[in-house]
Amino acid sequence: MKSFFDLSKSDLETHIGSRTRAGRVFRAVYRDRVRAFDAISTIPQESRNALTETFYLGLPSIAGRFDSDDGTRRYLLRFRDGQSAESVSIPSSDRVTFCVSSQIGCALGCTFCLTGQMGLIRDLSAGEIVSQVVVLQREALHSRFSIVLMGMGEPMQNYENVLKAMDILHDNHGLSVAPARITLSTAGLVPGIERLARERLFPNLSISLTGATNPARDALMPINRKYPIETVMEAVRKLPTARQNRVMFEYVMIKGVTDSLEDAYHLSRLLSGIRAKVNLIPLNPAPEIPYNRAEESDILRFQEILVQNGTSTFIRRNRGNDVSGACGQLQNREGRVLCD
Ligand code: SAH
Ligand code: SF4
Repeated sequence: MKSFFDLSKSDLETHIGSRTRAGRVFRAVYRDRVRAFDAISTIPQESRNALTETFYLGLPSIAGRFDSDDGTRRYLLRFRDGQSAESVSIPSSDRVTFCVSSQIGCALGCTFCLTGQMGLIRDLSAGEIVSQVVVLQREALHSRFSIVLMGMGEPMQNYENVLKAMDILHDNHGLSVAPARITLSTAGLVPGIERLARERLFPNLSISLTGATNPARDALMPINRKYPIETVMEAVRKLPTARQNRVMFEYVMIKGVTDSLEDAYHLSRLLSGIRAKVNLIPLNPAPEIPYNRAEESDILRFQEILVQNGTSTFIRRNRGNDVSGACGQLQNREGRVLCD
């Protein structure tokens, strides 16, 4: 049986032969949160039966929930095949950010990332990506939310499913999530960036650099050997201005590796001519990661250089560290792991 959450509204329309009914079903599931097709009173009984026979309306089960002192919650969500992925819910005063996974594990093996150490187990389907949002949304205290594809996996390596998930989430009869409320984070897969540039829906795009020169980046992010830093920047420069303005760069601050004055000047040079926004992410350490977090004073000095060169630069304060829910810490852990 197929998962309902894998269906776009046009897939559903093809299946039940009516655009109006497809819209009603989307509304009932995503907004009214019905848990059985039989409870959808706005469509005829025969359509309810047809849906019940063909589609599965179940959501992944919550196999674990780890609550951080700062309100962040890390969820271990188990899918029908018994495999799990992690999703993180990060509340702020008036909204909540859902950090969702695109794959179980990741094939790219960045040397500072725990998910990378798992290797790739499998891609998540569009429905499995959508259903992470649905579970987190039903659990959340705020109704206003944004989505960041910054959980486990490299979204550009699961391009079709990620794009389909965005389409389903965007649907106006469903959750109606605007592309501006979705951020796709990539390690810089150039063909994916070029393809995304031509899509109807363009989310905010976050490019993970963490290395401002090819030798530095080669050592940290092996994918750089295939798509060197200048090809990534070229793909960003080629985006139409309105889309380029929605790009930001992530740069992990690693002690003695990415945090020198020279690194800051290299990064500034790399970004010249782009109205860039940079997020500096202090490394989240773990026993399996052979690096340490940069010192606060070095992070501030680094930020100052970028700002002096005209780049808006923010320091991403780590949240959910105490439950291994922060960037690069997602590894399907069952327990509570203290990192700092
Ligand atoms: N694969 C995508 C999205 C998932 S990783 C990507 O690489 O962009 C999400 C973010 O976590 C990336 O910006 C990555 O650089 C960052 N990250 C990975 N490991 C980290 C760690 N140990 N500490 C801090 N950030 C980390
Ligand atoms: Fe994969 Fe991103 Fe981790 Fe690199 S940083 S291993 S691309 S999840």
